[in-house]
Amino acid sequence: ARRDAVLRARAEIDLAALRANVRALRERAPGAALMAVVKADGYGHGAIPCARAAVEAGAAWLGTATPQEALALRAEAGLPDDVRIMCWLWTPGGPWREAVEARLDVSVSGMWALEEVARAARAAGTAARVQLKADTGLGRGGCQPGEDWTELVRAALRAQDEGLLRVTGLWSHFARADEPGDPSIAAQLTRFREMTAYAEEQGVRPDVRHIANSPATLTLPETHFDLVRPGIAMYGVSPSPEIGTPADFGLRPVMTLSASLALVKQVPGGHGVSYGHHYVTPGETTLGLVPLGYADGVPRHASSTGPVLVDGKWRTVAGRIAMDQFVVDLGGDRPEPGAEAVLFGPGDRGEPTAEDWAQAAGTIAYEIVTRIGTRVPRVYV
Ligand code: PLP
Repeated sequence: ARRDAVLRARAEIDLAALRANVRALRERAPGAALMAVVKADGYGHGAIPCARAAVEAGAAWLGTATPQEALALRAEAGLPDDVRIMCWLWTPGGPWREAVEARLDVSVSGMWALEEVARAARAAGTAARVQLKADTGLGRGGCQPGEDWTELVRAALRAQDEGLLRVTGLWSHFARADEPGDPSIAAQLTRFREMTAYAEEQGVRPDVRHIANSPATLTLPETHFDLVRPGIAMYGVSPSPEIGTPADFGLRPVMTLSASLALVKQVPGGHGVSYGHHYVTPGETTLGLVPLGYADGVPRHASSTGPVLVDGKWRTVAGRIAMDQFVVDLGGDRPEPGAEAVLFGPGDRGEPTAEDWAQAAGTIAYEIVTRIGTRVPRVYV
């Protein structure tokens, strides 16, 4: 990997920036604990190094989607025993007994999940840590308000009385926290308060109530409750242009994606470039070959639009991005093969940011960093 890092491409991961981001987020939510969301291999940054760094900076909780991701953290990250790890994507037949044995907090949105987790706890001979998820308006996972919720809460309390589980959390997730002033935010909060109040009246004593993702952590203090769950902001990327830039919140991008030019060559005008010849050189020019492609997560939708910093200048992807490589038109410049091409980074060396790539590809910056493939070595600095 080291040799490949020198020769081809690399994603540099600045763990000092990640730690500083965690501290900045904690300052925004001073009354709440912080869950560092490290699902999807830490949004492409590497789950284990990021989890360790986040814990060093004061994260008391880690969050993942799948139980497999959470189990790997418990087994391999060498974290202090008291770090709580929660996973929220319930699937039937999942490794729930192992999850109970590893003291994971598992999310339950309905009776079928509750029953399966209770069976796993019986088999493990240990009480499961269960967090009940309310659908307060996201319309995705979570238990519907009304009868479904009252049934779930009561069943969870019965299982708790039998010693099969402890209800450790009540939680939900926003649909539109990245759209300042959207009325669904207040509506979801009201429903969250109602649903948690009902559970508490019935006797639930959760360790934590939580609903805030990155945009809510950054901009909506009334959503912080006992715990905030930032993901993207911890990696120094803005949840959306509407919310602001990372710098507006004292956050610094953690990942820098760069490659070494694999080839630099002169071509005449009228030269069709890459599949489909969507770019034709307007005159004699120099082309540079960047050895990264859509198999590495460089979005093909950014063909002809993605920005790359080479020799201090922004260049644009010329023609289509292929599986393993793409071309930039270097105009009159003639850098040496091996010269650095920076796709995105913090931006303070003049390079584009993940947000610039998101705009070029018509997607969100989450997708840009998360999809950087396993063929690109992560270099921790
Ligand atoms: N909480 C849950 C349940 C999530 O699924 C996610 C990620 O989508 C997050 C928190 C973190 O979201 P964000 O990256 O917007 O902070």
